[in-house]
Amino acid sequence: MHIYLDHNATTPVDPAVLEAMLPFLLDDFANASSVHSPGQRARAAVDEARESVAALIGAKPSEIVFTSGGTEADNLAILGAIKASNAPNKHIITTLIEHHAVLQTCQSLEKEGVAVTYVAPNASGVISPASLRRALRPETVLISMMHANNELGTIQPVDEIGRIAREAGVPFHVDAVQSASKLPIDVRKIGADLLSLSAHKFYGPKGVGALYVRSGSHIEPVFRGGQHERGLRPGTENVPGIVAMGKAAELARQYLADDASRIVALRDRFESALCETIRGIRVNGDRAQRVCNTTNVTVPGASGESLVIALDLQGIACSTGAACSSGAIEPSHVLLAIGLNDEDARSSIRFSLGRTTTALEIERAIAMIPPVVERLRALSPRYSPMTPVAAGRAS
Ligand code: PLP
Repeated sequence: MHIYLDHNATTPVDPAVLEAMLPFLLDDFANASSVHSPGQRARAAVDEARESVAALIGAKPSEIVFTSGGTEADNLAILGAIKASNAPNKHIITTLIEHHAVLQTCQSLEKEGVAVTYVAPNASGVISPASLRRALRPETVLISMMHANNELGTIQPVDEIGRIAREAGVPFHVDAVQSASKLPIDVRKIGADLLSLSAHKFYGPKGVGALYVRSGSHIEPVFRGGQHERGLRPGTENVPGIVAMGKAAELARQYLADDASRIVALRDRFESALCETIRGIRVNGDRAQRVCNTTNVTVPGASGESLVIALDLQGIACSTGAACSSGAIEPSHVLLAIGLNDEDARSSIRFSLGRTTTALEIERAIAMIPPVVERLRALSPRYSPMTPVAAGRAS
C-alpha cells in the first residue's frame, strides 16, 4: 500500500460515507423527482443531505445547490453571476493563484469582453486585502477568490475581503474546495454570496459538489433543462453522491478539531525532518497562515516530476503543482506567482496529509525521501554536492 500524501488531490471515501450512499445505488434508486414513495424517500434523503452540507458552512438548506463537483460550482458561480448582471461594462476581480476552474472560466469571459483583474499574492502566497481593494472599479460585478490554496495550503483573508466586497456592494464568490474539513467555514461571517464545495476533498466521492447561493443573491443557470435545484442546476439529482456528500459533511463537522490538531502535528514533524535532512530545501508559502495538512517544498537539484515518479516507485504518493498543457509540462502558476523562478518552480513538490495518515507512515516517509533526493541530485548535471544553495526560507 502506498503512503498516500496527496489528499489535496483527492481523499479516500470514508467507510461510513460509502455505507450511507450504498442503499441509494441499490434498493432506494428512485428518481428524487418522482411522486411515488420510493421517489419521495430519495427526495427526503437529498433534503437531509442538503441540511448537513448547509450546517457545515453555516448556511440555510435552501441556499445549497448540488453540482457535479468543485469545477462546476466555480463555473456556475462565475458564469451565473456574470449572466445575471445587466451592467453594460463588467469587471471581475480574482487572483493569480486560483484553481484553473476559476482562472480558465475568467479567461473565457475575457474573450467575451469582460474585464478581469488578477491580483498577485505576496511572496508567502497570501492575497493582501489592500491590493484587492485597489483593484476595485465602479464596474466591478464580482470578486472570486479561494479560501485555502490547493498547492501551498495558504489561507486567504476572506473575512476581510468579504467586508471590502460588502462595502463596495460587489458579490463575493469563495472557492472553499480546499478549506472544507480543514477550517471552520461560516458563510455569514465571511460575507460570501457564493461558495463552492467539492465532496471528494473531504472523504466523499468524486463527481459531487455544491454551490452555496445566498438567499437574495441572483445568478443565472449555466445549463438548461428543468427545475431541479431551484432551477439553477437542472438534471436528475445524483442521489447517492448527494447523500454521500451529506454524510461526509456531517463527519467533517464532527472531526474538524481533532483532525486539524492531529494532522498539523504530523505535518510539522514531517516538514521539519525534511528541512533538517535535505540540504537547501525551502518551504513555500506562509508557514503560519496555512491549512493543517499541506507542505510544499522546493528541492533544488531535483525536478518535481522526477521526484514524484521516484517517490512513487518507493511507495509514496505526492504531486507537483505543474500542469500539462499541449504536451508540455508547465511549472505551477501558483509558484511562479509567489516569485519562484522557472527552475525552482519545476523543482517543487507538494505533500498533503489526511485523516488516515499515521505517525508510522510519516516516519517511514521521512526515512525514505532524503536518499531519493540524493540519488536524483547525483544524476543532475547542474547540481553538485558543492553547489551553494540558499538557506531554507521560513516565510
Ligand atoms: N477549486 C480548488 C481550489 C481545487 O483544489 C479543486 C480541485 O483540485 C477544484 C476547485 C475543482 O474541484 P473538482 O475536482 O471537484 O472539480
